[in-house]
Amino acid sequence: YYQPKYKSTNSIYGFEALIRWVHPQRGIISPLEFIPIAERSDQIYDIGKFVIDNVSRQTKKWLDEGYELIGSINLSSKQLEHESIISDIKNALHNSKLEPKYLELEITESTMMKNEQKSIEMLNRIKDIGVLLSIDDFGTGYSSFNYLNEMPVDTLKIDKTFVSGIDKEDEKYKIADTIINMANELDIAVIAEGVETYEEFEALESAKCNKYQGYYFSKPLTLNEFNKLL
Ligand code: C2E
Ligand code: CA
Ligand code: CA
Repeated sequence: YYQPKYKSTNSIYGFEALIRWVHPQRGIISPLEFIPIAERSDQIYDIGKFVIDNVSRQTKKWLDEGYELIGSINLSSKQLEHESIISDIKNALHNSKLEPKYLELEITESTMMKNEQKSIEMLNRIKDIGVLLSIDDFGTGYSSFNYLNEMPVDTLKIDKTFVSGIDKEDEKYKIADTIINMANELDIAVIAEGVETYEEFEALESAKCNKYQGYYFSKPLTLNEFNKLL
């Protein structure tokens, strides 16, 4: 599934790929259910490769059709522990002929913190390929500012716990506002995830957030639906 990401001008600038398992008996299974199992069984590497390959190919296809979009994929901590991620990314870019600047990796903050020094090292090598790096669920993972200092992070993704009800809860507004100001100072982009209402969007806009993702804009879409939206 492809969930569009929006600029404040209400135009789509990219998408996040969100995997689902279409099971013949059980229907659509959430990644929250099967990704943790795949991580324990090593199948996460094949799934991860499938996602990187498909997103690279689809992003290139859209580019060729005149739609300049950044394709984002989620990487789990286990994928980051394995050397093969470097060649998987390189191969996907090579095979699809996609320029690295159109591919973004979303890594959660807790993944970063799990093995901080090793993760920083690995992510620096991945960054050398030229892809973009986004810190997912920002603000929930015992935020260490150390990695922001040691790593070329392109985007912070404000976690939806701070977005949900931001129009009503002053503390949430202050936290989001602070993240946005810090990111501006550091020349890092910011996106808010889980924006569900107009009021939340408005509050974020007044905090000078300029990128958004969430049900208020669009839910995750099938390829057909996404094509219609474009
Ligand atoms: P995430 O990366 O934090 O993705 C955002 C989740 O929030 C997605 O759930 C998305 O469908 C949902 N969402 C989007 N907008 C809204 C909103 O306005 N309100 C609410 N309440 N939810 C919203 P989803 O698709 O079930 O994915 C859950 C998690 O599974 C993701 O969290 C991500 O960590 C993981 N995941 C998804 N696809 C992949 C993948 O290809 N590889 C790996 N390793 N993990 C994946
Ligand atoms: Ca994500
Ligand atoms: Ca997230």
